Amino acid sequence: MNEDNKQRALQQRLANRLHDMNRLRRPMWVFDIESACVCWGNPSCLALWDAESLEDLMSRDMGADMTDTVATRLRHYQTDFKQDPKKQFQEVWTLYPNAVPCTVDVVFSALRMDDGRMLLFCEVDAREPLDADALRSAEALFHTSVMITLFSSSGAPLYRNPAARSSVRSVDETLAEHFENPSTLQQLTLAKDDEVNIVAQTHTVDGPCWCDISARRCLDAVSGEHAWLISEVDVSRLKATEERAQFLAEHDTLTNLPNRNHVSIAFQRRIDQLLAANERGALIFIDIDRFKDINDTLGHTAGDQLLVKISRRLKTVLRKGDSVARLGGDEFLLMIGPLDDRQALLDIVQRIKDVITARIELKGRPITVTPSIGISLFPENGRNIDSLMRNADLAMYDAKDGGRNDYSFFTQALSDAVESRINFEAELNTALKEGQFVTYFQPRVDVESNAITGAEALVRWQHPTRGLVPPDVFIPVCEKCGLIAKLGKLVFAESVRAQRDWANQGYELRVSVNLSPLQFSEESMVQDLLDIVDFENGTISAIELEITESVLLGHDESTIQKLNTLVDKGFRIAIDDFGTGYSNLAYLHRYPLRCLKIDRSFIQSLDNATPIVELIISMAKLFKLDVVAEGVETEEQLAAIRAYKCHEYQGFLFEKPIDRAAFTALLEKHDIKRCA
Ligand code: C2E
Ligand code: MG
Ligand code: MG
Repeated sequence: MNEDNKQRALQQRLANRLHDMNRLRRPMWVFDIESACVCWGNPSCLALWDAESLEDLMSRDMGADMTDTVATRLRHYQTDFKQDPKKQFQEVWTLYPNAVPCTVDVVFSALRMDDGRMLLFCEVDAREPLDADALRSAEALFHTSVMITLFSSSGAPLYRNPAARSSVRSVDETLAEHFENPSTLQQLTLAKDDEVNIVAQTHTVDGPCWCDISARRCLDAVSGEHAWLISEVDVSRLKATEERAQFLAEHDTLTNLPNRNHVSIAFQRRIDQLLAANERGALIFIDIDRFKDINDTLGHTAGDQLLVKISRRLKTVLRKGDSVARLGGDEFLLMIGPLDDRQALLDIVQRIKDVITARIELKGRPITVTPSIGISLFPENGRNIDSLMRNADLAMYDAKDGGRNDYSFFTQALSDAVESRINFEAELNTALKEGQFVTYFQPRVDVESNAITGAEALVRWQHPTRGLVPPDVFIPVCEKCGLIAKLGKLVFAESVRAQRDWANQGYELRVSVNLSPLQFSEESMVQDLLDIVDFENGTISAIELEITESVLLGHDESTIQKLNTLVDKGFRIAIDDFGTGYSNLAYLHRYPLRCLKIDRSFIQSLDNATPIVELIISMAKLFKLDVVAEGVETEEQLAAIRAYKCHEYQGFLFEKPIDRAAFTALLEKHDIKRCA
């Protein structure tokens, strides 16, 4: 039988079965959801549908301009009737016979055919038609995407609008069964207000869904009993966006590891948890040694790859409950707990070292990096994430100071050292402001004639209580805390003035000034020195700048450029403490040097070091450099360097560093006045 014949047979069977209903005045019809066609109707329904005949009505394709909501609602009827064929629904529907709206209150029930087909029996209720507002609100309720459900006070479902009906897992689902988390129901029902608003997860046919839920106490319009009107808006996309934003705020986008923000909240929470359970734990601070070199030599992309690989490896070290975060740059933080004993911790530290030092392929090249690791323990070294992190960081620096690729535990001594360094820094700042630094001068003497040829400026700190403090004590601190540039300029200016004044008195001396390698990182360094000479009315050619080998070691373009400019402007450059660094001969050749100062350690152990000193002197002469022996204390030492034809010397044998007035007196005593 073809479809048309089947349909006609169905219409015929219905016509026979429902024959008696033709007499009734209430409009009735049978709707076949499958074919979206009316397949029977009594004469009264023809007027309602504005149909000329039953054939006319039955020939209409009702599916043609049916909205999605209506189609979905009809499918719901179908499934609901399959579950309970005796069920009836009463709903206000707006029909559109020949495109003219006509609102009716319809009772729907199931009509099962012998072949198992489920048809919809529709019967118009004779009650008073609804007013316009009620009609519109009924329509709105029908079409809205807000899910609206009315539950009895015991939680049984009384009504669901199509949106709620579409999403519910089963039509019988109670209010208690609706929520993913049982506490949601409590939040709603225990609230004192008549209306409660929360965001919570509900069950749906498609799985859990975040909803903005509003629950309102009301009365059921049919029974008059207490009921719950629940409206829900699906906010899962908003929630997902919010979660993503939250994730991004607390995670590092490169490695996807938690970041510093996350650490301060989540790590603290975990510490509190462990401590409340009387457990112990540790924070492990990891810094990759010389990470900057990787970035500088292989590029930032390779550096990033390295960090990603290391972060993956660090995750493999974690036990249950442990976590890892990236604090920024090449710094990682591990939270380890609970911790049974020190050995367990040491095993983890060893694993960290193993995974980090294991070979890594970067840009097709095998690379090996090492970590410096600092450890703080809780509760021993603190209970608060900030102080524990600070302590682990201090311990990490201690490991770096100890030569890298190692670990250190936090100790009180480390913290004390930092404290005293901070105090020391504060004192140095005051010293600079109050002019407590004084420049001493040590004579530089001609080996042959024993005449004073120049002076080396050496700074001292005239401390109000500690007396004269030597530079070895404070120069390294000034370098660390960024005061060296200021101090360097101070000494330089005093040296220029001393040279100028001695020259004005007729003493033509060359004054040497020590420059810290860190002064070269100051962009304005060259200009600052030139400005000072200019301001003090000094003579550039009479100033020698002493640098150490470490300045040249970096092969840093900007340093070399600065050195060249200094030479072009007329300064002499001397290399200080020669022999203690790399003593690379290539320096002497490559850089614009004029003088080489042999470190005093060689002079003072001349017996053993003789061949070295001899070698340095002959080499310097080869490169046409002046040679100065430092730290000459005895006549024997002087005799030895004289034998090697060393040009000049400095040392206690002739004079210690002395203040400017004493130096001037010394010049007068030696009467080396050369100019009239
Ligand atoms: P340096 O530039 O090698 O200075 C020579 C050091 O050897 C001076 O120590 C000097 O007092 C000492 N000395 C000279 N002759 C003898 C001797 O016969 N025997 C012994 N045992 N020592 C002798 P000082 O003044 O304590 O300076 C130490 C270092 O501090 C200097 O070594 C220099 O590197 C640094 N320094 C001093 N002043 C300044 C400064 O103004 N700026 C910078 N950046 N560093 C400075
Ligand atoms: Mg020096
Ligand atoms: Mg020296």
